[in-house]
Amino acid sequence: MSLYKNLSFTQKMLVSMLAGAILGIILNNIDIYHSIINQYLSNGLFDVIGKLFVNSLKMLVVPLVFCSITIGITSLGDLALMGRIGIKAIFIYLITTAIAISLALLLSIVINPGQGFEINESISYTAKEAPPLSSVITSIVPSNPILAMAEGKMLQIILFAIILGIAIIITGRNAEPFKKGLQSLNDIMMSMVIIIMKFAPIGVFFLIAKTFSTQGVTMIVPLASYFLTVTLALLLHVLLTYTFFLKFVGKVSPINFFKKIRTAVVFAFSTASSNATIPVTLNTVVKRLGVDKAIASFTVPLGATINMDGTAIMQGVATVFIATVYAVDLSMGDYLAVILTATLASIGTAGVPGVGLIMLAMVLTQVGLPVEGVALIIGIDRLLDMMRTSVNITGDSMVSVIVSKSENSFDTAVFKDPKAGV
Ligand code: ASP
Repeated sequence: MSLYKNLSFTQKMLVSMLAGAILGIILNNIDIYHSIINQYLSNGLFDVIGKLFVNSLKMLVVPLVFCSITIGITSLGDLALMGRIGIKAIFIYLITTAIAISLALLLSIVINPGQGFEINESISYTAKEAPPLSSVITSIVPSNPILAMAEGKMLQIILFAIILGIAIIITGRNAEPFKKGLQSLNDIMMSMVIIIMKFAPIGVFFLIAKTFSTQGVTMIVPLASYFLTVTLALLLHVLLTYTFFLKFVGKVSPINFFKKIRTAVVFAFSTASSNATIPVTLNTVVKRLGVDKAIASFTVPLGATINMDGTAIMQGVATVFIATVYAVDLSMGDYLAVILTATLASIGTAGVPGVGLIMLAMVLTQVGLPVEGVALIIGIDRLLDMMRTSVNITGDSMVSVIVSKSENSFDTAVFKDPKAGV
């Protein structure tokens, strides 16, 4: 016990994750007591404590995003500067997502994960109808900001916060008390993040134990080739694309970067939600990596909402996999269509568990593949979701560093200090 106490926070998180996974796998394999384990542990204790933890993170997201973006905009102060930061961030989000999906397609063509996969005729999947493009665009502006907050509509909250921040600047002195109030609320929210982080090792243990005890790893076997292709593409994207951007565009040490974001990655892995991880990503990016607070307050929530490289990778591999299984030949034009739609689909994917798979239906329809194909891979999606969410938030953190660095508002001393923000 005292050995555990002496571990660093990240080490504790890793131990919890591992212990949760081991317990989950053991429970999943004890057949005789299955219904009891299911009722009282997997869907009982593990589920309850895991949900309590995720909810406590989620409870901070809306107030934190709202306050930090508004404050961020007011402290940037200059509209042209804001525009520049926004354009830079969105530009890198799009480029890296397009690289991610191209890499995924390339690997899938080489590995051909669908080869030899036996299709079970009884499968069925009903895709949710995608909303028309016009309503996607018009819904970015909230007709009721309170409702947007109550429903946790990220893009609407971000837009309202940006306009509010600009209005505070225009109002000037009269808006000072409100601005101070928001600043204070923002600081209080950050303290709440720290309180909740204290429970993280327990929360992570139960979340992971629940996933592994209900999912089991044996389900992966028939889909091993698909699973490994997605995993390999995720890994290569982090090791090649992100390392390249960090080293040659941001000119910072990728190793140091990866070391410092470990905690946030564990959160993303165990919750499978970029949104729920926003408080931790924000904390990590500012206090551990040295990104300017005003920039991070904008790039992190926006990234968690629209920048999903991991999701795009899964969608690319899944499309090729499903095409092979249904014996459909994809042309060069189809591949280009996949790159375009998967980039758009990943923008439209909310940072919550499993949505990437729902959006996959849009990509499949675009290239004329049956949406029932989604049913083939749904069984093992949770594990992949955990991994792709980790990549999603790594991308958000990477873009935050690059944008902050390019604006000369990056604290290199914090980035280099191994103890910063611990
Ligand atoms: N769970 C992912 C995220 O929150 C989205 C997805 O791919 O389903 O980033």
